[in-house]
Amino acid sequence: MTRYKLLAIYPPGKKFQRGEDRCQASIDDSITVSQRACNDLGYIAAIARLYNFDSYIIDYPSENKNIDNLIDDLKKIRPDIIFISSTDGALIDDYETFKIIKQILPTGIIIAKGALFSTLTYNDLNDYEKYIEPLDYAVKGEAEATLNEFLKYFDDKSKRETACGLIYKKENKWIIPEKLAQLENLDVLPFPARDLMKNELYIRPDTGKPMATIESSRGCPANCIYCLTPIISGKNVRYRSADNIISELEECIAKYNITDFFFRSDTFTINKKWVCELCDKILEKKINIRWVANARVKPLDKETLEKMKKAGCWLIAFGIESGSDESLKKMKKGATVEDAKNSVNLAKNVGLQIYGFFMLGFPWETKNDIKKTIDFAIELDCDFAEFHIATAFKGTELYNSISSKKINIGANYFGKPTETTENFTVQELLDFRRQAIKKFYLRPRYIYKKLKKIRNFYQLKTYIFYGLKTLKLIFKK
Ligand code: SF4
Repeated sequence: MTRYKLLAIYPPGKKFQRGEDRCQASIDDSITVSQRACNDLGYIAAIARLYNFDSYIIDYPSENKNIDNLIDDLKKIRPDIIFISSTDGALIDDYETFKIIKQILPTGIIIAKGALFSTLTYNDLNDYEKYIEPLDYAVKGEAEATLNEFLKYFDDKSKRETACGLIYKKENKWIIPEKLAQLENLDVLPFPARDLMKNELYIRPDTGKPMATIESSRGCPANCIYCLTPIISGKNVRYRSADNIISELEECIAKYNITDFFFRSDTFTINKKWVCELCDKILEKKINIRWVANARVKPLDKETLEKMKKAGCWLIAFGIESGSDESLKKMKKGATVEDAKNSVNLAKNVGLQIYGFFMLGFPWETKNDIKKTIDFAIELDCDFAEFHIATAFKGTELYNSISSKKINIGANYFGKPTETTENFTVQELLDFRRQAIKKFYLRPRYIYKKLKKIRNFYQLKTYIFYGLKTLKLIFKK
């Protein structure tokens, strides 16, 4: 029997958070976002093994490898399938990689995933056709669902092309399925093939220890107009069972000696019962771990936060977005400035560190709204803050609401945002972001607080690294 090979990659180039369709952050343009483990590749590699493929994973940017390394790898491995995790901000560079792969391995099948494909419609195909032309297939929705069917019937082209969510070419025309591929039950997923991932590259910034990402739930019932989650992952939240998550944690500890985790959910705290059940299981099994998670500021209560802290949570990331109730209402956040204050205070009192996310430059926003958001970030005094520029990703309500509907290929909300507002130019918005970073991070009180927390040489090195990065972001023109 032929043994096929699948190579799953993050293509060479700048670092992006490719594993998450909602948060496609550019690591280089962010202040404190660190590269997360390439779980999306890990899942596909693990699924391929179920169908007797030999799997390979290479995260070229994190491994500091370039296009020449990719060419060498292609010649050495000669994969039958090259699975690529793409992202809006990297599309222009990824396109060059797609072409090179096709030149080196004309018979290799290239399949790409990414938010762009999940929101692709016949209407905007013209804008993207050039960029996706070298691909054989792309995935609309959750790649694990599509690849599971695609690989099962790999030997039979007509059958494999019936895989859910598969975008493919028929008589040289792209066929885009109407429905997104989606897994109903996340527990059916094998654990990511961490034996093929270089786990030591994905670290907790303040300790340098490897930090694994645990996919915990998918979907969010909220209606935030800028967010891709409800469109791609759906409004119906699918949770992994606590037992299934515990088994993965135990595997990470036993096999890979990893005790730091990021519980990746679109909104980890949306279901108190599930959070408490998971925390109770961690405590019951005496699993000694440290972890971080993201949250909405509402709903959230003290009991949940206390339980999270007891079970090893040390940092919670809140999508706070704005210091203006009017803005929050218009972006359909479903939470107010007061809700944010309450939750941040509760989390601080429980002893958690806080990472606040803020957004600047919605179409209706004035200088005063932006100032309110920056002032609010300072008032909340989170441990870390990140300032995004409101960016209209195709498929979102924000995108549909802006009159220009300008597609900005390669959009990146930290460095190359889309034009969503007539009040400010892109350059002005980038300047507002710089001002926000400066005002938040260059406060003597903030710097003093951080310096006081330094306990060892590694932390000192980390603070110097992030300090210099912040200064570069503030002063680069
Ligand atoms: S709360 Fe809003 S921003 Fe967060 S995942 Fe849900 S829809 Fe997206």
